[in-house]
Amino acid sequence: MNMSTHNLLSGQTARYGVGSGVDDADDAWRGFVATWPQAEICGADGRVVWTMAGYEFLRDESPAPSVHPGLWQQARRNLAHGLFKVTERIYQVRGFDLSNMTLIEGERGVIIIDPLTCAETAQAALALYRQQRGERPVTAVIYSHSRVDHFGGVRGVLDEQEAIRQGIPVIAPAGFLWHAVSENMIAGNAMSRRSQFQFGHTLARGVCAQVDCGLGKNVPHGTITLIPPTRSIEKERERHVIDGVEIVFALAPESEAPSEMFFFFPQLRSLNLAEIGQPTMHNLCPLRGAQVRDARLWSRYLDEALHEFAPHADVVFAQHNWPTWGGEAIARFIAQLRDLYKYTHDQTVRLMNQGRTAVEIAEELRLPPALADVTQVQGYYGSLVHNIKAVVQHYLGWYDGNPVRLHALPPVESGPRYVEYMGGAQALLARAALDCERGEHRWVAEVTSHLVFADPGHQAARALCAKALEQLGFAAESATWRNAYLLAARELRQGVPQLKRRGMSYDLLKVVPMEMFLDCLAIRLVAPRAAGQHLQIAWYLPDLDQRWLLSLDNAALTYRRTDAPVAAQAAMVVTHARLAELLGHELGIAQAIAHGIEQGEIALEGDRSKVQLLLSMLDEFEPMFNVVEP
Ligand SMILES: [Zn+2]
Repeated sequence: MNMSTHNLLSGQTARYGVGSGVDDADDAWRGFVATWPQAEICGADGRVVWTMAGYEFLRDESPAPSVHPGLWQQARRNLAHGLFKVTERIYQVRGFDLSNMTLIEGERGVIIIDPLTCAETAQAALALYRQQRGERPVTAVIYSHSRVDHFGGVRGVLDEQEAIRQGIPVIAPAGFLWHAVSENMIAGNAMSRRSQFQFGHTLARGVCAQVDCGLGKNVPHGTITLIPPTRSIEKERERHVIDGVEIVFALAPESEAPSEMFFFFPQLRSLNLAEIGQPTMHNLCPLRGAQVRDARLWSRYLDEALHEFAPHADVVFAQHNWPTWGGEAIARFIAQLRDLYKYTHDQTVRLMNQGRTAVEIAEELRLPPALADVTQVQGYYGSLVHNIKAVVQHYLGWYDGNPVRLHALPPVESGPRYVEYMGGAQALLARAALDCERGEHRWVAEVTSHLVFADPGHQAARALCAKALEQLGFAAESATWRNAYLLAARELRQGVPQLKRRGMSYDLLKVVPMEMFLDCLAIRLVAPRAAGQHLQIAWYLPDLDQRWLLSLDNAALTYRRTDAPVAAQAAMVVTHARLAELLGHELGIAQAIAHGIEQGEIALEGDRSKVQLLLSMLDEFEPMFNVVEP
């Protein structure tokens, strides 16, 4: 990253030159100190990792007809970028990444909460801070929760060896490391493809394309890193003094993330709600897919924050979007969010117990009148519709209880029959075109999708389905819905671009426990290739002094840890560190292991053919699978 190219912008130049022009009183710009032009951040190779360029169209106060008016204003507020003063001794860098970096000035240096998504943006954010506030050393790093946009940039702000030498703590909530790696390991390939729909980062920027992500502008494309925590917050409340700053840590597990905590700074009269309280409705289950979050608990943590800490705070802020200042506004803000999640939970469950299905409840429920016009609880990121479905999923799962849908035909089988029953492709399209004119876009998308699944080469069907989806995108309040609809429309029009598989971050692989690695093999087993096969392969990891036995029976790979060597057809000896390096290969797991054996990096004892047999049964995942067509 080359920082010398950045001219500093401050005050009015930044606000009107690169900023949004949103009302001066808007909290999004309050406390602005300085920024870089377009917040442009490049990697070592000169590649642009992050930029706010391309969003200039949002300077217009009046919404484009192709963007939901509420989302337009949220997108304008998310244009704010640079260093912001939250209160005495607390600063944030915003708009340099999807998430915020919070900087707390201590006695000797600066405490960093959440070093962004990648090393490049984190390094840039710290550089901007230091340009304004002096060369303060980093005296602690805190991860608020286990999502990559809150830890992935840590090597951009901290040198691990230096941290060890100087005893600089890296602090995280209980269970952080397991959750940080596990979310991306088992379901990672599916989630990463679906993330393209949620964030729209492969879409162009523009009034008919990507405008925002609700929580922030976009996602950066840089180097994801991880330094494992050296201290874990284990109790519900822990009070620590770090670099002279008193911090009350409050755990909030199973809320927005499985491992999460928020913070109160008594001396600084400040409350940081991590990711459980920012000015937009969040997801109970994001479109990319995730384990469902618990709305009831989430609401309870906000209630705790409201009663325990808010009365002693002059400002509340989060690791996305902007802060809220002033006692009354803070109390109102937290109470409204608390009630948003409680309302969503309770009303969904009430109707569920009246026998309504998720689809029906989502059609029926609206925000209560008291919240209907409150900007900060609107669904610019999550949405009430999909959050209702997530609550039902949390309690009842995928099945809506009607056996008609217990074993429905898959789209490639039902599609052709729908088309035939509707009188053929031409008849279907003629009626769908009329409905499209009438604005029945949800229905048109559904019905033309049957034809796309019956005949993916049918260009008129693809075009009409794309048109309907695009209109749904233009009307969507949620940025994630908009992104999903618009990417789907693009893929129907232009097909699915082929992208190369990207190796995972070595820092993440290094901390993957052996059981998770063996699960990663197991989920790649192509069952038909394993029919009638029985394998027993021992693994020894000398650096961890761990022994594992991997068994194949009944087309299932299982494993267990053993204390002593056990009988097996073959044994592999490899250090965990070496294994992590091999996994980082873009080759895929099976090929990387085969390569490791060939190169002698993995020592093999016993019957070599058994290991080759196992590797020949393993699948690899393609990153760009089809979503809107068969
Ligand atoms: Zn986040």
